[in-house]
Amino acid sequence: MPSEFDLIYRHFAHLGAGPAVELSVGDDCAILKLEPGERLVTSVDTLVEGVHFLPDTFPEIIGYRAVATAVSDLAAMGARPLGMTIALTLPDADEFWVHSFSQGLAEAVSEYSLPLVGGDTTRGPLTVSVQVMGAVHADQALLRSGAQVGDAVYVSGTLGDAAGGLAFLQDEWRPSPDAAAYLVERHERPTARLALGQQLLAVATATIDISDGLLADAGHIAAASGVAIELESAALPISPALAEAGERATTWALTGGDDYELCFTLPVGVPAPEGCVRIGTVVVGEGVRVDADIDTGAGYQHF
Ligand code: ADP
Ligand code: MG
Repeated sequence: MPSEFDLIYRHFAHLGAGPAVELSVGDDCAILKLEPGERLVTSVDTLVEGVHFLPDTFPEIIGYRAVATAVSDLAAMGARPLGMTIALTLPDADEFWVHSFSQGLAEAVSEYSLPLVGGDTTRGPLTVSVQVMGAVHADQALLRSGAQVGDAVYVSGTLGDAAGGLAFLQDEWRPSPDAAAYLVERHERPTARLALGQQLLAVATATIDISDGLLADAGHIAAASGVAIELESAALPISPALAEAGERATTWALTGGDDYELCFTLPVGVPAPEGCVRIGTVVVGEGVRVDADIDTGAGYQHF
């Protein structure tokens, strides 16, 4: 049976190099470098087996997804990635599991240039917590709170794909095989929009990543900015694969979680970044309104 330290040094310690890393795995803390005038931005996200991923999910997928979902918060701030730490709770020291998990981590570390600089390894029910750290210049972070009446509302990518993929995995819906493969990939390997976030730094008035569903997350921008948001259901970007679901596609696009696209507001006249579409407008009032007759269960809530 490998010890905790065998696992760490065999499977995690090699993922710790990066331009901002002064000291990585092996001491009491890691040391990361900031440029003059920068601020540290940090966030932590936890995935629990049976709550955030289905039991028996392939460990490589858990590893990749745990990082991508956490990195998405850095994207939503416009942050430059510095490094992350991972607290891993395992039922047993299953080295095949840890090896596969670390391969998923390695893919994400390289895709997002976010080295793994430390962590904690404990025994218990399978749980993965990823703490991400990034940098922004003082007073330049993208917040939820800057949306102005008259701004246009945008999203990146397509919406509802992860919810469609999950519905397929849970046997609630049977799309065509090609559509199923695409949607499952979107559920299992979400893309954090890190580059887009940095592109938005100079222009967006408010930004959030869509983890709980568009209605819920646009609602956070509205609340933080003291405005209302009007969404046009016909403008929602829906992939050809999800469109196979007909009307349910719109419901998933509005309420399905786990897409990790960015929703942001731009002053009128600012051109939309590539791959982003306008879905609504910031108006006077509060909350989110949409011209679709759907059950607006307002996204996923844990309690
Ligand atoms: P400490 O007792 O100081 O908390 P640990 O014994 O928990 O240190 O961990 C030893 C070293 O290994 C530390 O540098 C820690 O950051 C790192 N580490 C522990 N678990 C992980 C992990 N899952 N991934 C990456 N680094 C880890
Ligand atoms: Mg420790």
